[in-house]
Amino acid sequence: MTFAIAAPFVPSLPVAGDDMRFPIRRIYCIGRNYAEHAKEMGASVERSQPMFFMKPADAIVADGADIAYPPATADLHHEVEMIVALARGGHDIPREHALDCVFGYGVGLDLTRRDLQAAAKAKGHPWDAAKGFDASAPASALHRVADVGHPRSARLSLEVDGELRQQADIADMIFDVAAIIHELSRLWTLAPGDLLYTGTPAGVAALRRGDRVVAMLDGIARLEGRIV
Ligand code: MN
Repeated sequence: MTFAIAAPFVPSLPVAGDDMRFPIRRIYCIGRNYAEHAKEMGASVERSQPMFFMKPADAIVADGADIAYPPATADLHHEVEMIVALARGGHDIPREHALDCVFGYGVGLDLTRRDLQAAAKAKGHPWDAAKGFDASAPASALHRVADVGHPRSARLSLEVDGELRQQADIADMIFDVAAIIHELSRLWTLAPGDLLYTGTPAGVAALRRGDRVVAMLDGIARLEGRIV
């Protein structure tokens, strides 16, 4: 087969301790998955029905790379989140088999143009421009399940220029990893290469050009970058 234009490249992330890279197909995100964050956003804490949105796969920014401050916003917010990478997919995946799909774990930022999100919420418009912009998904290297297991409790944190901005334990997630995979697979057929951003704890705030960010999932993954 010959393409009429050069085929787009496959976005990917490094795999810790390995020369091979993890190719990314889709990026799914869950909103309002920590009660304290839902409260700070003035949203209700919904425990029966998760809320999902997506980012494009090429929104990924690798660990150590500069993160471009996006256009059309005066209020770029950080949201530190645990990332789950899938090696297997399917539809209607039962909770008890969901973790069998996981390739590994990382930590990332669900960057958000908060001013555009507020405007979209007010008008009942979709969130794509607020969430799915270029370079909106900085992500660490991925750590294989064989190396880190399936973490159920770990400290998730974000420092900006050495100041602690966000801190929580992933055990506080309203929907855990198995529940997120189960719920997503009722709405979409999941596939190898899918990344899941699992929601942010309280403490979201603005980033400025020149800020140095360090995101940590203790004992598992680390991400560094600079807003430029
Ligand atoms: Mn988020």
